[in-house]
Amino acid sequence: MSLIVQKFGGSSVANAERLLNVARIVTDTYRAGNEVVVVVSAQGDTTDDFIAKAAELNARPSKREMDVLLSAGEQISMSLLAMTIQTLGCTAISLTGWQAGIQTDINYSEARIRKVKPERVRSELDRGRIVIIAGFQGINKQDDITTLGRGGSDTTAVAIAASLGADLCQIYTDVDGVYTADPRIVPNARKLTEITYDEMLELASLGAQVLHNRSVEMAKKYNVDLEVVSSFTRNPGTKVKEGSDMEKMNVSGVARDNNCARIAVINLPDEPGVAFKVFSLLAKHKINVDIILQSVGKNRVKTISFTVPQDSAEETREVLANAKGQLGFEDLSVNTEVAKVSIVGAGMASNSGVAAKMFEALAMAGINIRMISTSEIKISVLINEEDSEKAVKAIHNKFFSEE
Ligand code: ASP
Ligand code: MG
Repeated sequence: MSLIVQKFGGSSVANAERLLNVARIVTDTYRAGNEVVVVVSAQGDTTDDFIAKAAELNARPSKREMDVLLSAGEQISMSLLAMTIQTLGCTAISLTGWQAGIQTDINYSEARIRKVKPERVRSELDRGRIVIIAGFQGINKQDDITTLGRGGSDTTAVAIAASLGADLCQIYTDVDGVYTADPRIVPNARKLTEITYDEMLELASLGAQVLHNRSVEMAKKYNVDLEVVSSFTRNPGTKVKEGSDMEKMNVSGVARDNNCARIAVINLPDEPGVAFKVFSLLAKHKINVDIILQSVGKNRVKTISFTVPQDSAEETREVLANAKGQLGFEDLSVNTEVAKVSIVGAGMASNSGVAAKMFEALAMAGINIRMISTSEIKISVLINEEDSEKAVKAIHNKFFSEE
């Protein structure tokens, strides 16, 4: 007998027909001789609809009350699913975050899980019940409801799996796994059977949008085996776990992020402490900087360029412009028409040819590279946004079509 946690996203439980489909997946798993804990998201667009409702009444509602409101979405799903499962002849019980022992810090709307006390869930499983838990919510030390941030139900599922020592945590969604590239751009992208936690973290932060980042971090920390799988097909999904025999695999995927901007601080004095001044200023404003490039100093001046998320571009411009006198630069340029394209792969560090191959693909496609950054498992280039689809296709073709 295995203990399996199954998480179902909003689209998977959106209506009665889909709830019945989910109930079948759950009861099939239970009848195959497993203990089953289910974590659900709010149905379809419920969370967005609640946010819109609140906005009609108060432009800046308190975060505490928003959490009370939003947590209701998951409670609707959990009770409807429990009822549906009961019609299929199994015993199911639904539990809120606090009933399931999910304790968080006090940060309403973006709470982090502190501890999970799994006793209640464990005792319900011991009684032969399927346990259904509301995702995305917990309780803080003031006994108030908190939520974990948008997309947080994945994190609930992994936390529950870790606390119960589950054998597997399945994330059911509307895609059937993690692909070597976005299938909407690259129709012949392949589904990966396995991927490491680190690769998944890179792909998630690069905009692959399959899993909540914190859920992958937590799965890595507690060594929870994850599986991304579709609730609409019964195809095998993608397993996310610690790397084992994946050394052979150089590159596991190509990702694109259009949501970035390039800032250039032009003609700064070429003297010690300049980069420190620029980036500590940005850090003070909590602006996330990604790729950084500094030109060779010439005539006692140099230029530093870097990328930030697109929605931080305006703030970055303001912060720097206000410090013009102090920093002593000549000019600022902000370009939001750029995109970051990256290849990710755990086996890349030991293979020097990977970067050259990526650059060759871009050269053959006539795409100019503006910036480059590399890490153990990732190579990113900054290019013009209009070239980004062509770049993803060319790079994917280079790495995945030649075998
Ligand atoms: N219902 C929440 C949201 O829409 C949490 C989740 O779906 O994971 O963000
Ligand atoms: Mg999600």
